[in-house]
Formats: sequence, C-alpha cells, structure tokens
Amino acid sequence: MKHLLAVAAALTIFGGQSPAPALVAVRAARLIDGRGGAVLAPAVVVLRGDRIESVGNAAPPAGARVIDLGGATLLPGLIDLHTHLTSTGVHWEDELLKTTPGQAALHGAHNALVTLMAGFTTCRDMGPTWPYTDIDLRKAIDEGVVPGPRLMVAGNYVSPTGGAGDARQFSIFVDVPIVRNLADGPDEIRKVVRTNLKQGADFIKILGTGAVTSKGAPPGAQQYTEEEMHVAVEEAARWGRHVAAHLHGTAGIKAGIRAGVRTVDHGSMMDDEAVELLRTHHAYFVPTLYTSESISVNPNVPDSEKERSRQIKELKDKSFQMVLKANLPIGFATDAAVVPHGLNAREFAYRVRLGQTPMAAIASATKTAAEIMSWSDRVGTVEAGKFADLVAVSGDPLRDISELERVTWVMKGGVVYKGDVR
Ligand SMILES: [Zn+2]
Repeated sequence: MKHLLAVAAALTIFGGQSPAPALVAVRAARLIDGRGGAVLAPAVVVLRGDRIESVGNAAPPAGARVIDLGGATLLPGLIDLHTHLTSTGVHWEDELLKTTPGQAALHGAHNALVTLMAGFTTCRDMGPTWPYTDIDLRKAIDEGVVPGPRLMVAGNYVSPTGGAGDARQFSIFVDVPIVRNLADGPDEIRKVVRTNLKQGADFIKILGTGAVTSKGAPPGAQQYTEEEMHVAVEEAARWGRHVAAHLHGTAGIKAGIRAGVRTVDHGSMMDDEAVELLRTHHAYFVPTLYTSESISVNPNVPDSEKERSRQIKELKDKSFQMVLKANLPIGFATDAAVVPHGLNAREFAYRVRLGQTPMAAIASATKTAAEIMSWSDRVGTVEAGKFADLVAVSGDPLRDISELERVTWVMKGGVVYKGDVR
C-alpha cells in the first residue's frame, strides 16, 4: 500500500496546478502485448493518465516520467473470467448460517486486493453467496475506495431448487429470506434475471448442472432444461447482457449452448458434438482446470466433494484438450475461492502441461478474455487507447510459464499498485 500511496502522490504532484494527465513511459526488456504475435524487445509503453498512448521501442518522449523495469517482461493486466471474490473462507453452503453480508463485503475487499497484487487487473466475478455484495464491491473499487481489479459481476446466482446454488443443504425447512436465487420454470427465471439486472448485475450466472463443491445433484446431472436456460438468455439479451452458465455434464453443456449462453464455464464433460456446438453457436469454453489440484489439498472441502472432484478430473483435462485441438477460443478462469485467491496464475502451468502453448495460454487470459467480456475496447491487450493496465514479471514467461505466478509489478489505470517505482 505504501507504493500505491507514493505513486498516487507522485502522479498528483506531476500534474501540478492544472491537473493535466501525467505522461509516463514504462520501459522493459520485452513486451508480450496479449495479441499472440511477435514479442517486442525492448519495449516502451507511453501512458497519458489512465490510458495507453503509444507502444513501441523509441526513446521515451520529452517530459515523460520514466518507469524503467530493466530486464522484466511486460504484459497486459491479466483477466480471470471466473472468480468468487466475496467468499469468506467458510464452505459456501455454510456461509448463510455462519457469516453475514458485511463479512462477505470485507473479505471481498481483501480478496480483491490479493487478486490485483497477483496481476489480475480485471475479473468477471461469478456470484456471491450473499446477494449483491459483489455489486457493492465493484462500486467501491470503481470509486477508488478499495483497490481491486475492474469487475463485471453477477449479483446473485440463478439456481434451480436442489441445484448447485441451493444453499439450503442443511434443511429445506430453514429459509434465508434475503437469498432469492432459486428459480424454477420460465416465469420465475424471468423474474430473478430482471431482479438481478435491476440491482446492478452486469451479466447473469446460471447453474445449469450439478456441482463439485456441493452436496446437491452430482456434476454430471443436467438441472435446467434448455427452455429454462433460453429464457435467461432471452431476458438478459433485452438488457444487452450475456449469460454465463456453470455446466459440467454433457447433456447440460449441449442444452446450454443451444439455449444461447455466452460461456460454458467448467465444461468438464465435452464430447465431439458439444465441441461442434461451441463452434456453430459461437459460445466460449471457459474451463477451470487447476481446481482439481487445489480441491484435493483444501482442508475445508469435505471428502464427499473431494471425491466428486477426483471423478471428473480426467474428463476435465480431456475436454480441454478436445477444445484445444478443435482450435476454438478458450477463456482463462480459476473459480477462486475454490483455488485460493491470489494463486489464480497457477492455472497457466496446468494448461501448458496439457499441451497449450505459453503464448496461447497468455492470450486466453488477455485478448480472448476481454472479447468474452465484450471489453476489448478497454482491456486485454497493450494497445493505444486502452486502459494502462500492465503487469511485469522478472523472467520470460514464454520460457517458463510459472513466471506469471510471480508478478513483480502491477499497474491499473496508470497507477502502480505493486513493485518498484523508479
Ligand atoms: Zn464458480
């Protein structure tokens, strides 16, 4: 935090009496710009205020404050398409009994900071347990009250009764009146979608199949019908918003894609037909692969759920390789809190072990992730006009992808949050 305050002060002083946006040049040994093409070496990225002004390797312009990162590699701020930042560390099915919305918001602020420091400057947050705490977190970050990634948030899960988001696993007789996330049938789904968007959600998260970290229906079981998912898609589209669907089982994946969801999250049990549907319907595959490893060592996950995770691990890995082979776009996601907040980048090495190239893995967390969010106009690549969201690692992530687990320097919107300020 000391660095953050120092830089904020430096930028203010630089602006002097008239608050002209500060001119800054960031210099590094190489730049991976997120577009998947050639590496620029050396690189100079010129920023004015919160935006990138130019990218090249000419000398910094006169009057620019120079941030020299030496031998480091510069990249776009990373994007995680599937986080749960407001998790309190308690198993989510217990959160409604043992925690409060205030706790979720405070933990959310902490988790947002940890995630930003890990180099993730943008997240699509896939739903809190306590409704709308994610919306409050997004607002607080946008207002500069707490540091964190740029957020796109779901507001509240949309789950069928007994489904992956039905937190009343302890007893159906105990209701938690402020949680209105259960919806069955077209009319109820329309209502919860409208309610979420009215409250300020940016997109809709539906739970189309069972889940791993749940005592409800098993992951392979389809829960929402194609018709129900289509109603969510139709209603969200009226607001210009997309639907992200939690889908593990094959039948549920196919129904979701046919229904028009934008992202198949997890996508654990793909088959050839499902891959072809992704292609023909222009849906995006957003797997969360490192969860298999993190769940197996997490003391807070009950054995029954560790077993669920073990059962689908190989299917998940195989599904990823099928979509990779089909040469379809793949988004980057982690399911943090299932993976501890701040360890998001471990997903990269897992994917590279399964055969993805380091450059493609990086593009999935930058350019492709921004496309999936419809945020290509502002984040995802290092190009003139976009937000000055940049991260640096000391080595070359194309040689060793685990470099991304050791982000040394983070800038969001032209403000340095982590690292040396020279
Ligand atoms: Zn999730």
